[in-house]
Formats: sequence, C-alpha cells, structure tokens
Amino acid sequence: MPASILYKSVNCAMTDQPILIAGAGIGGLAAALGLAQKGRDVIVLEKSSRLGEIGAGIQLGPNAFHSFDYLGVGHAARAMAVFIDQLRLTDAMTGEEIVSIPLDEPFRKRFGNPYAVVHRGDLHGVLLTACRGNDKIDLKVNSEVLSYEQDGTTVTARLSSGVSVSGSALIGADGLWSNVRKQVVGDAAPRVSGHTSYRSVIATEQMPAELRWNAATLWAGPKCHIVHYPLSGWKVFNLVVTYHNDAPEPVAGLPVAQQEVLKGFMHVHERAQQIIRHGADWKQWVLCDREPVENWVQGRVTLLGDAAHPMLQYFAQGACMALEDAVCLAHWVDAYRHDTEAALEAYRAQRLLRTARVQLQSREIGQHIYHPAGVHAALRNEMLRSKTAKDFYDGLQWLYGGTGLTGRAIA
Ligand SMILES: Cc1cc2nc3c(=O)[nH]c(=O)nc-3n(C[C@H](O)[C@H](O)[C@H](O)COP(=O)(O)OP(=O)(O)OC[C@H]3O[C@@H](n4cnc5c(N)ncnc54)[C@H](O)[C@@H]3O)c2cc1C
Repeated sequence: MPASILYKSVNCAMTDQPILIAGAGIGGLAAALGLAQKGRDVIVLEKSSRLGEIGAGIQLGPNAFHSFDYLGVGHAARAMAVFIDQLRLTDAMTGEEIVSIPLDEPFRKRFGNPYAVVHRGDLHGVLLTACRGNDKIDLKVNSEVLSYEQDGTTVTARLSSGVSVSGSALIGADGLWSNVRKQVVGDAAPRVSGHTSYRSVIATEQMPAELRWNAATLWAGPKCHIVHYPLSGWKVFNLVVTYHNDAPEPVAGLPVAQQEVLKGFMHVHERAQQIIRHGADWKQWVLCDREPVENWVQGRVTLLGDAAHPMLQYFAQGACMALEDAVCLAHWVDAYRHDTEAALEAYRAQRLLRTARVQLQSREIGQHIYHPAGVHAALRNEMLRSKTAKDFYDGLQWLYGGTGLTGRAIA
C-alpha cells in the first residue's frame, strides 16, 4: 500500500477516536457542544458526582451571545437571560451616581448582540440540556482526571478511580486548580489576590424597591465594592460584594455570617451598607488569577477557560472567554481535521493575546475603577463623567466587538 494512503487511513482512524474533555463547567460543556457539532465524538470527564453550577449570577457581554449562536444554543440562552438597560457606577462613599452606560439599541446595534445577566445554574442548564441531547457527547461524573500520557497518536487520561480513558486529544477545562495544567504548564499554584468576594441571591421582594433597577449596578468604594442585578425573570437579585482584605489563602464557596461580610464595608455610605443587610446565606471566595503564559499546548493536550487563563472578575469576562475558547477550538479542530496537534496550536495562537489582555486589564480595572480611594477615586469619577456613551463603546470595541473567531494569531 502506498505510504500516503496508509498515512491517510491512520489519521482517519485517529479522528474516529473521541476527544476527551476534563471538566463539565461552562467551558467544558461549551467545548463539547462545539466539537460535537463538527462531527466529533466527545467524552466529558467531570470530577463531581453531579453536574451543575453554583447558585449565583453572571454577566454576559455581547461576545458571549456570538458563542451561543455558534454553539447552537442562542435561542435557549436568550430565553433565560435578563437584558439590562444600563451599567451603573455609583460612588459607595457618597451614594451618588458617577456614570451610567446605556445598553439599549445603539449598544446592541454596534456590537451585534445584547448585554445580559443570567443565573449560572440556568446558563449551565442550557449547555447541559444541549449536551445531553447530542448523541456524540458522553458525560461521565465521578471522573477526576489526575494525569495523562500520550504517544503521538493517542492521549490516555488517568482518573482518580484507577480507570484510564483514551482519545485523540485531551482538553483541560478543569478550572483554576486544573490537574491538566499541572502537566502542560507545570507552573506554581494560582496567585491569591487577597480580594474576598461574598455572594448571595435574594428574592426580588427583599431588595429595596428603590434599588430594583434593570441594571448591573456597581458601588465602588475604597478597597471594596458591591454589585447587584436581577436574575431569572426578575425572581431574584444577585448580590456580590468584594473586600480587598489581603486574605492569604484561597477559599471557594465557604458559608460566612452577615456580620463578617459587613466588616469590610463599615466605611461606605449607609445606603450601600443597607444593601448588604438584605443579603442572606452568604458564601465567600478568595479570588485568584495567574500571569498569562504562552505554553497551553503539549502535543495533543491543551487548556481552555480558567485552566488556561484564570482572571479576576472585574471585567466580568471569565466565562465569556471560556465560551469564546470553545468556539475557537471547535473551529480549528474542524479546519485541521487530520492534524490534531496543528489544530490545538492554531487555537492557542489565536486565543493567547486576547485572553491575556482580559487577564491583565481585569487587574487594572479592579485597582483603578472598583477600589480606589481619596484623590484616586475623585480622579476616576471625573474621568468617567467626562466620557460619552460612544467613548465607552469605542473603548470596549476590542472586547465586545470580538468573538472566538477573531483575535490575532501569534506564533
Ligand atoms: C466572584 C466571581 C464573579 C464572576 N463573574 C463573572 C461574570 O460576571 N462574567 C463572566 O463571564 N465570568 C465571571 N466570572 C468568571 C467565571 O465564573 C469563570 O471564568 C468560569 O466559570 C470558568 O469556567 P470553566 O469551565 O473554565 O471552569 P470551572 O467553572 O471552574 O469548571 C471546571 C469544572 O471542572 C471540574 N474539575 C475540576 N478539576 C477536575 C479534574 N481534575 N478532572 C475532572 N473535572 C475537574 C470542576 O468540578 C468543574 O465542574 C466570575 C468569577 C468569580 C469568582
């Protein structure tokens, strides 16, 4: 048999192998959908015993809706979203509004899609329903990926149960503490930012009537901020309050008393403090991120979402970037159908600078918009007040005007 025919048939056999995805969060499920739609079999390996998301809200820029459409869930995603009218910024020391950015028709027209807020459970549910309805996707729980081996044609994931699962590629969508990343990048633990976020979801009736705005509202104060917005068809309000308290250790989802939450907000205006008093069942997270790195690919293994580029939440883009990653990955895996390594490399090259920019600018926004004090805060107020809606849109064009298919590839 001529070598070229042999080579082609070997490669065809390889593409018949499933693609493995570690992690069934928003990024992992989105990647599974994207790859399945390109005709690839996918096995999703999730560590937890059940598939779901934490009970909290999430903001979605217009770039997320491009991803939903590409992944075939645009209609379902729009059906569970609340389309807010404004992003409002208020000075938490004075209670005065600094600026309000309209998200109405001119915004939607400019970026081709809306800005929205959703319940994480609802969003995860949309992706999960679509995955469950796709017979190319096999979802496995109780399947923690510990490590992998590869031999040039096959990747084998080793699970904590002792089981091994093989495929043509492995996508590490296993979040901030990714085991796959430990092997691909091999860097140290994530950077602990010292910022603690407390989350609560309350019934809309519990939210003061005068604050029930159809907006994502940010109260920015010295070393602290409060965010609130409506969710789930206005049934509930999401409260997220963050305090830069130099917390030394990473924490995720630990219950915390209201008095403890209030401690970081005793210096802000009474009106801002009152919002926190309406919260209940608070849980805390000590936020972590990482420096951007270049090497997200090792042969047939790559990273996606927080495993690749964990970021602070100040741009509200971590999940949006994971969704874009999924689109980009599906695109390149399809384009390089018979060359998995080239596909993963093209994906990495296209995603690197865009995600690194969001990672680094998220820190900057936290420092200069969310948490400044004194003259720094007064300067923020003056600079933001001098901007028109168009100025804001122009500044966000690179982000909201981009998609998982844009972004300049670098070698
Ligand atoms: C306070 C806060 C507010 C935020 N607000 C926003 C926002 O408004 N907008 C936005 O876009 N983003 C926001 N983000 C960021 C967003 O939540 C994350 O970027 C996003 O959820 C990352 O998704 P992921 O699928 O990459 O990772 P994860 O959601 O962490 O999912 C990883 C999955 O992998 C599983 N897993 C872990 N290890 C293994 C393993 N070894 N093997 C198998 N499975 C494994 C986990 O159980 C989990 O299901 C916010 C984050 C925080 C902390």
